[in-house]
Amino acid sequence: MGILADKRVHRVTLIEGDGIGPEVVRAVRRVVDAAGVAVLWDEQIAGGAAFRKGIASGVPAETLQSIRTNRVALKGPLATPVGDGEKSANVTLRKVFETYANVRPVRELAGVETPFSGRGIDLVIVRENVEDLYAGIEHQQTEGVAQCLKLMSRTGCEKVIHYAFALAVAEGRKSVHCATKANIMKLTEGLMKKTFEEIAPQYPGIRAQHIIIDNCAHELVRRPEQFEVIVTSNMNGDIVSDLASGLTGGLGIAPAANVGDGVAIFEAVHGTAPGMAGLDAANPAALLLSAVMMLRHLGELEAADAIDHALQVTLAEGARTADIARGDEIPMSTTDFTSAVIGNLGRRSAQRSREHRPLALPRLVRRPGQPRGATRTIGVDVFVQSDLSPAALGKSIETLIAGASFRLQMISNRGTKVYPHVADLPDLVDHFRCRLVVHDPAFAATDAEILDLVHRIGRGHVWMHIEKLRDYDGTPGFTRAQGEDAER
Ligand code: ATP
Repeated sequence: MGILADKRVHRVTLIEGDGIGPEVVRAVRRVVDAAGVAVLWDEQIAGGAAFRKGIASGVPAETLQSIRTNRVALKGPLATPVGDGEKSANVTLRKVFETYANVRPVRELAGVETPFSGRGIDLVIVRENVEDLYAGIEHQQTEGVAQCLKLMSRTGCEKVIHYAFALAVAEGRKSVHCATKANIMKLTEGLMKKTFEEIAPQYPGIRAQHIIIDNCAHELVRRPEQFEVIVTSNMNGDIVSDLASGLTGGLGIAPAANVGDGVAIFEAVHGTAPGMAGLDAANPAALLLSAVMMLRHLGELEAADAIDHALQVTLAEGARTADIARGDEIPMSTTDFTSAVIGNLGRRSAQRSREHRPLALPRLVRRPGQPRGATRTIGVDVFVQSDLSPAALGKSIETLIAGASFRLQMISNRGTKVYPHVADLPDLVDHFRCRLVVHDPAFAATDAEILDLVHRIGRGHVWMHIEKLRDYDGTPGFTRAQGEDAER
């Protein structure tokens, strides 16, 4: 098979990466070329090669431009920088192209033995890839207390949830689970659950089901075959996608795609495995399966299937690299394994294969926020540093704000109400949240009143941050402290 002159030519940015990267990238390129797909590989650098040139972001401008133009990239693993001031090239790519969905299929492969073999695991985890705790907004608020902001947006949820449903449709899958911790984080994780429930009716052929993330982890180990697509937030997805890849044979066979608006970057889940670099021992299957995803993305559905089948035939017939070889087997080298896959192009595996259709994503209307209803500020949380007892702090704040437009509703310490009326105090830290609300809920607080309030509190205490308590069309935009409800 060779490249046919009348075929559509795809330009793909190719980044060989670090460690075992060049070996697995070379292997994958051989297979894709042998499958007869007309790919023009636009070779670029990132990671170690860029850092060695003094490029602190790890990704040169030419590489960024190449991806911007080609809109599709296949990349090997990139080294994590060791020096100060250098950024992770992976993070740079994720941020620049805002790849909002990290897509990780997890499928049992014949010939790769695991404790779960024979169960027919075939699922995809779609992880939101930009927001959540990974926005990296952290503050050391006191010497002993740090905070990380968990920011989630409706737009971010919408994009990744639509992607998950569209993927289910394209792959002929029947169900999508949305895994969140909405029972605890009602406004952030709850936003993802709510958005999922709003979007689900647009995909009537797909069964939509919400599942609490910890139960999802439990069920993934107990009965993984029940899942088809799981969409989840960034932190949850980070953990369960690694868990899931462990079910089917690990890093050597785990592919991934990072999908943004009009840009998709395909890579293996694994890192650079420096101890294995240059030994011709790495398993190219993970990146090869990423290339299969890439070919489907490019509309090369037949070639993708041909490679997928060839890989499965190869594994089923016992050709295995060291990471998945059985105890008594002599493992195959990367090069020989790749040649075996190429030799099997055109053969069909007996394993059930699923249909793949082009992915149809709806065009989402851009909007900076929600349609604005009546938004009012009805109070403010002021976070203060103090070594006082809650009772002494409460009395002090009440004295300081006498005559202001607010009353002290409660004080909490690490989320648990400690003032007023608390029988058993938790172990306290020097970080208190003082919740102050307007005297008359019929009147919203003004910025001038809030600034006056903070100024008064600042006369007696060190404050670190303030947060407005907003009410959206009568619905509170804030949660209550543990124990606060007992007051009502
Ligand atoms: P990095 O610092 O880049 O994350 P790492 O070695 O710490 O590198 P990984 O590369 O993700 O982390 O892999 C951990 C281990 O998994 C490797 O040391 C190697 O034993 C195994 N491994 C990962 N990828 C492969 C592969 N493609 N083929 C065979 N074994 C692999």
